Amino acid sequence: MDVTEQRRAEARIAHMAHHDALTGLPNRVLFHERLDEALLRLRRQDEKLAIHYLDLDQFKNVNDTLGHPVGDLLLKAVADRLRLCLRESDMVACFGGDEFAVLQMGLAGAYEASDLADRIVNLMSEPFDIDGQQVVIGASAGIAVASNDGDCTDLLVRNADMALYEAKEEGRIFRFFEPGMDTRLRVRRALELDLRNALAAGEFQLYYQPLVILETGVISGFEALLRWRHPQRGMVPPVEFIPLAEEIGLIVPLGEWVLRQACAEAAAWPRDLKVAVNLSSVQFKQGKLIEMVFSALTSAGLPAARLELEITESILLEESKINLATLHKLRALGVSISMDDFGTGYSGMSYLRAFPFDKIKIDRSFISELGASQDCMAIVLAITKLGSSLGIRTTAEGVETEEQRELLRNHGCTEMQGYLLSRPMPASEVKKFLTSHRNVWQSGEYGLNAQGPVLAESAYPRDPVEP
Ligand code: C2E
Ligand code: CA
Ligand code: CA
Repeated sequence: MDVTEQRRAEARIAHMAHHDALTGLPNRVLFHERLDEALLRLRRQDEKLAIHYLDLDQFKNVNDTLGHPVGDLLLKAVADRLRLCLRESDMVACFGGDEFAVLQMGLAGAYEASDLADRIVNLMSEPFDIDGQQVVIGASAGIAVASNDGDCTDLLVRNADMALYEAKEEGRIFRFFEPGMDTRLRVRRALELDLRNALAAGEFQLYYQPLVILETGVISGFEALLRWRHPQRGMVPPVEFIPLAEEIGLIVPLGEWVLRQACAEAAAWPRDLKVAVNLSSVQFKQGKLIEMVFSALTSAGLPAARLELEITESILLEESKINLATLHKLRALGVSISMDDFGTGYSGMSYLRAFPFDKIKIDRSFISELGASQDCMAIVLAITKLGSSLGIRTTAEGVETEEQRELLRNHGCTEMQGYLLSRPMPASEVKKFLTSHRNVWQSGEYGLNAQGPVLAESAYPRDPVEP
């Protein structure tokens, strides 16, 4: 009997079970088997080995924009390059998609692992020529070393994966596993779970921080700032949960809640007061932003002219054409658009020409150094000058001292916001604040000589809705 054909078929099946179909590299099964064997040997000899867990940046982007066939060719090219980096005793595997892992044997020290990771990441950053097209990607790596970071396969792979996660979080090209990482990750996972429930559980609330016109002392409006009242942890600040909400996509429904809530609450304020709402760049990607803003305004009965949307430069950095079109449509609704945290981003001034912003908010970092640093003084002066020549109002953020306020007023800055005027407050305190501000200001304590009331009582809508 001729068994050649059968043998060949068996061999092919065995190969398929142990290799990634697209790249031909060993798959997760074979990688784990090899690692098991290597760890056994390690126990007998006093050697070290490293596992590098790799992830390609921008791969999804390439797939989405250039198509899957190009994505597949790119993965093959990546596999070829990876093979080139390695020694005979090392092994590279593809875990499917754009996840790769390297097993590095016979390590004399950790430095050899960082050398290899460095080499791999550099090689991945060189442009690829795919079908005559130049494709540029990048890569990050997480490294676990045996036996330091674990002596069993599953643990080592998990630890390398965790290190990769941290590397990406921190924008680093590679990162070694460290014992604290799993605790941090567990804390983050727990926070993520809680965050997913928080919206339905009604744990969010908006605080409002007033803005004052420097020349006249008139309150022009309030910025809505999101607060999360966690049942066990208490108040969680937005810097801790907004990036997470963006990552898990929760910012879309959450941002919608913020907008609707802010419009509804502002509708109960005196008619000359505006409300400013922060938008995340993720909300622009979702595509329904214009309809959502329109719907929030109409259901609250708030005129569009009383809504300001605050965006950061990042919105103009990614997908700038689409986002610019969205901004123009939003403005066509009648809402104003402010450039937030100005000065912290990339090419700053050039963005001001890209879109007719209504307001520039000068980042707090420049204001806090205002008295002390000549540079900050010069930057603030440049921004206010540019603003007034382009007809854009300027708001100084984070004003905490009288000295800063006076400098800003002398520099021609339009508005200020900061603890000097007031900390953010719950909606229920807005009315009380407006009354006391008017009294303080009229008595001259505010340091202004202008005459007349900040707000007439009659400016309140007939039936103020108490939030
Ligand atoms: P931001 O938009 O720059 O908001 C101003 C931040 O500065 C607020 O922090 C405010 O409490 C703080 N601040 C105001 N005056 C002073 C001052 O005089 N000194 C100091 N040291 N800080 C002052 P908060 O409320 O913690 O918010 C932080 C950031 O979270 C905001 O920065 C904004 O980027 C984001 N954020 C807040 N609410 C939302 C929201 O509803 N949606 C989105 N996408 N982001 C939000
Ligand atoms: Ca803001
Ligand atoms: Ca800001």
